Amino acid sequence: MTSRPVRTRIAPSPTGMMHIGTARTALFNWLYARHTGGQFLVRIEDTDRERSTEANVEVIFDGLKWLGMESDEPPVFQFARADRHREAVAEMLEKGQAYRDYMTAEELEAERELARAEGRVVRSPWRDADPATWPDRPYAVRLKSPLDGETIVVDAVKGDVTFQNAGLDDLILLRSDGNPTYNLAVVVDDHDMGITHVIRGDDHLNNAARQTVIYKALDWEVPVWAHLPLIHGPDGAKLSKRHGAQAVSEFDDMGYLPETLRNYLAKLGWGHGDDEIFSDAQAIDWFDIKDVVSAPARLDWAKLNHLNNHYIRLADPVRLTALVVKILKSRDVTVRQGDEALIARTIPLVRDGAKTTLELADAVMFVLKIRPLELPERTVTQLADADLRARFVRLRAALSDVTDWGVPALEEALRRFAESEGVGMGKFGPQLRAILSGGAPAPDLAGAMTALGRDESLGRVDDALSLVA
Ligand code: GLU
Repeated sequence: MTSRPVRTRIAPSPTGMMHIGTARTALFNWLYARHTGGQFLVRIEDTDRERSTEANVEVIFDGLKWLGMESDEPPVFQFARADRHREAVAEMLEKGQAYRDYMTAEELEAERELARAEGRVVRSPWRDADPATWPDRPYAVRLKSPLDGETIVVDAVKGDVTFQNAGLDDLILLRSDGNPTYNLAVVVDDHDMGITHVIRGDDHLNNAARQTVIYKALDWEVPVWAHLPLIHGPDGAKLSKRHGAQAVSEFDDMGYLPETLRNYLAKLGWGHGDDEIFSDAQAIDWFDIKDVVSAPARLDWAKLNHLNNHYIRLADPVRLTALVVKILKSRDVTVRQGDEALIARTIPLVRDGAKTTLELADAVMFVLKIRPLELPERTVTQLADADLRARFVRLRAALSDVTDWGVPALEEALRRFAESEGVGMGKFGPQLRAILSGGAPAPDLAGAMTALGRDESLGRVDDALSLVA
């Protein structure tokens, strides 16, 4: 184990989306760095020049920013470091840890087939060739891997994973066009960035064996490996499109809060006893790689919704208002001057039932309606009844007597009104609710009236009465 100050990283390839698995990897790296007082870094693995557009890189930075996990140092871009990668290869050639491989594409293909038939890995005849025999044509550079013995990946999650060296071919480090290969670039970059702990998805476990051999060839300290089990869907199969959202931006679009995702993702593969809900500070305090479990974690939408509701109830109404306004605008709802204050006042009254900010946006819609509201057909028919109409005239008077327009006083007034009428709330409540909300989702009566305010509430009742006068 290393005694260097902890430095972790995520190294996403900019493919156009930030996968939820990458977000979880980022989170574990970030938690471990924060837990140890170390640094969390970001490297963009942009060597695939076709996919690595500026827009795709932005998607990653946006995702990390939204998640609240930005790099402690300026991000490193892998492609820009190709010269440095070649320099490391030159060093390995110099030390005899790598060799020039002059096999042509056809020769390599033939060797591949032979190796397959003989049940062994590809071997190049140039491994120990005399430089005097080097032809004058382009060559790849291969790592001179040990032919026998074993390479052990000491993994903080998986334990010791042993690879037989006879099963590892001599990895290509530089292609014949001079371009560095992926495994080489990762090792050189992680070394130069001072990465002490490589925490990533366990689809990279085989690469860790190859990378270990490169570290040793360069005589560099091997980092602590920690390979995380992948995230699976609720049915136990590898997470895919049919399970719903996969990209971090989709979770944002679906109305999940970043703190929900942090809490939830922390529970996917790690946990602190049975604790379901914990703050960032607690997660940072408790997190340790050794407590990561090696079984795949399953996404559970019900738990995610439950957590999101928890964080929506905790969040600052002003912040939620900004989120709700953004959602409403995306739905082409006109948000007029003064509406933001109205929404901010409404949120605390409606948020208990909201699983997402989309639902929160649905729940505030009733306050934004403009008088006179269009009432449900059924309410209009009911109000044509003279007795009910008379009752609503008396109710309007009772409500206008309420001086302290808030939930407790309004609840009390409604209760007393029902009592004085000698009926249950069911005899006028549903109609009042429809009058106040125009049939849109709304909280209970006192909450709805508190959100609307006195004038708007009484005005909506007046509109309904004049409608059927
Ligand atoms: N670029 C790799 C990926 O996106 C990650 C490599 C690593 O973490 O070492 O899967």
